[in-house]
Amino acid sequence: MLKDRDRIFTNLYGMHDRSLKGAMSRGHWDGTDRLMKLGRDQIIEQIKASGLRGRGGAGFPTGLKWSFMPGESEGNPAYLVVNADESEPGTCKDREIMRHDPHTLVEGCLIAGCAIGANTCYIYIRGEYIREREALQTAIDEAYDAGLVGRNACGTGYEMDIYLHHGAGAYICGEETALLESLEGKKGMPRMKPPFPAVAGLYGSPTTVNNVESIAVVPTILRRGFEWFAGIGRQNNTGTKVFAISGHVNNPCVVEDAMSIGFEELIEKHCGGIRGGWKNLKAVIPGGSSVPCVRGSEMKDAIMDFDGLRDVGSSLGTAAIIVMDNSTDIIKAIWRLSKFYKHESCGQCTPCREGTGWMMRVMDRLVKGEADMAEIDMLFDVTKQVEGHTICALGDAAAWPIQGLIRNFRDEIEDRIRARGGSRATAVAAE
Ligand code: SF4
Repeated sequence: MLKDRDRIFTNLYGMHDRSLKGAMSRGHWDGTDRLMKLGRDQIIEQIKASGLRGRGGAGFPTGLKWSFMPGESEGNPAYLVVNADESEPGTCKDREIMRHDPHTLVEGCLIAGCAIGANTCYIYIRGEYIREREALQTAIDEAYDAGLVGRNACGTGYEMDIYLHHGAGAYICGEETALLESLEGKKGMPRMKPPFPAVAGLYGSPTTVNNVESIAVVPTILRRGFEWFAGIGRQNNTGTKVFAISGHVNNPCVVEDAMSIGFEELIEKHCGGIRGGWKNLKAVIPGGSSVPCVRGSEMKDAIMDFDGLRDVGSSLGTAAIIVMDNSTDIIKAIWRLSKFYKHESCGQCTPCREGTGWMMRVMDRLVKGEADMAEIDMLFDVTKQVEGHTICALGDAAAWPIQGLIRNFRDEIEDRIRARGGSRATAVAAE
């Protein structure tokens, strides 16, 4: 378990002063000019050595991503874009950072901007996050007033402007290229990749898009040393992580702990255990709604990191853990997610536009037990045809929860069809 002195987010619960003064008293903005003077190469090397992997879902190494940015901009400005469009069902970790510890993010933007050679940073915040936007804007204004960002950021001569952009509530704008389209004033529709944003991103210029948590941890990593961060967790899964735990635990919470903590320890220490005890645990979605669910019995000993959750057939994703006890109708729960993804599909590519609706309609019948047994395999097959055949990852996000359901709870689906007294075909034949 993470020691208190190793926590990066010391005001996650808003118990302390979130203003610049309060943030400084907790060690933020301390020697930021010195960190900036490390220079681009040193900052990138140290972040690479820390092992930091993106906290938005994909887990791509942050330092490596920064190194893709062209050193010289060849006449085009470079941009840093922070993805604060936290819309994945169950995910609510960046929200706590932005509303209670916003200076961690503002300072992170400055340093990450230095690392990629950007003088402009846009933070794209989810439309529904009104109070978070207010808190973050206040923090940005404070940083300008104190000369920490702006023309001569921290007295280093480096110019850094930070703009906060409010989204309009579309889930798809959390996809990095849809976010860039939206930022440019267009419809939030994902772009084909390549070219990747590091080559042609915002307004066609080199752009790095990072998650809020990935950026907010950077100043502390540099201040405390990459060895410190790399010493938490295990190889390839280092550092601290903000987990958001919801559902059937005794105390749902958002908490920062060590990467690679055991699932059981995480739930016992921070959530007061599973509602009704561990025997009552039915299933867990361990990384936000788009990752496959895992049976409770397999989840108990799981290690909460990228590799540990891959080993149980799922993914760390955003580390938003949805816990479901035996009272849950798991088929209905996954159907609800199918409905969500169908609603949020931008409609650009056929497998996603048609597939999400088709999958939802079959799920609709599975909930009622009105399907044929053969349709279970057919549904699985269709999820495989959607997965990996679309422009962006929303197709995968719609397919994976259903695959997890069929892999882990096929018996329950079959029981429901049987209990309904036969298949649809049987019912039709009887008419
Ligand atoms: Fe749009 Fe879905 Fe295609 Fe993504 S996968 S571009 S959301 S239609």
